[in-house]
Amino acid sequence: LLLAYDPARRLARVQVNLERSLVNARMIYELLDIEPRQRDGADARPLDVSRAEVRFDGVSFSYADDLPVLRAVSFVAEAGKTTALVGGSGAGKSTIVTLLQRFYDLAEGAILIDGQDIAHVTKASLRANIAYVSQHPYLFEGSVRDNIRYGRPDATDAEIEEAARLAHADEFIAGMPQGYDTPVGENGVTLSGGQRQRLSIARAIVRNAPILLLDEATSALDTESEARVQAALETIMQNRTTIVIAHRLSTVVKADHIVVLEAGRVVEEGTHASLMKSQAGAYARFHRLQGEPVSRKGGNAA
Ligand code: ADP
Ligand code: MG
Repeated sequence: LLLAYDPARRLARVQVNLERSLVNARMIYELLDIEPRQRDGADARPLDVSRAEVRFDGVSFSYADDLPVLRAVSFVAEAGKTTALVGGSGAGKSTIVTLLQRFYDLAEGAILIDGQDIAHVTKASLRANIAYVSQHPYLFEGSVRDNIRYGRPDATDAEIEEAARLAHADEFIAGMPQGYDTPVGENGVTLSGGQRQRLSIARAIVRNAPILLLDEATSALDTESEARVQAALETIMQNRTTIVIAHRLSTVVKADHIVVLEAGRVVEEGTHASLMKSQAGAYARFHRLQGEPVSRKGGNAA
């Protein structure tokens, strides 16, 4: 039993979690307050969001020095609209939503929110304006309620339960031994991928931020739950600037704007109708190749 409290073993467990996703690792670093790479600069100001327009301006990026992952990516996610990112596995879609939260510094270019370069704003103010449902939702040590409240620390119990209802998480929470007080995370009850995803969506709903980033947010759900959760997401997408990486064509078709990526480059942009006019184009080709789902379920490791 003593061994269970051994720091090395605890670290080993953290390591396993770190490997699950680097984005999650970033969240842990933040909690531990040891972000070595990009602290706020002395001149950092709070982000002032009015319309919540997001602009990528010639963004190039690589994780390792020699392998470009994004190459001069430019696009605008209009305020209050839904922009879908489409492209095969490894095209750079998840990287785009990661960079928008400043988990890494850019090699070139800038990302602007309402005209403010996110490199020069405080990270706390940036992240306070963004709700993010990642491909690999992370659960913190704590109760179900704590895990949803992480979206907004001052949320009331009623708001948490309403968010859980909208995310269709209340159904499985009600069946748990202590309901909302059931411990989850490493030493708690094990949840399925779909259950974790629904908690993560509830967390995003409770956050109530002007910018919403959905990275294959419903990919772990079965078809029926997915349709219901998708409906809830569509409600919260209204009047928010949403960037969605969707694995279902039906979500992409409805987007106000579609950005098509291939190997880290933007190769086409438009609406579903305008992109389908060019039958030789990347979107139409993609569409033909993959049909429904547009990017395969659980497509990649990051
Ligand atoms: P998509 O979401 O379109 O499938 P990603 O943005 O996840 O693509 O990945 C783009 C490229 O970057 C891929 O080649 C992937 O292997 C690589 N990559 C993604 N995350 C990391 C990471 N944390 N470290 C190193 N390489 C990564
Ligand atoms: Mg991805």
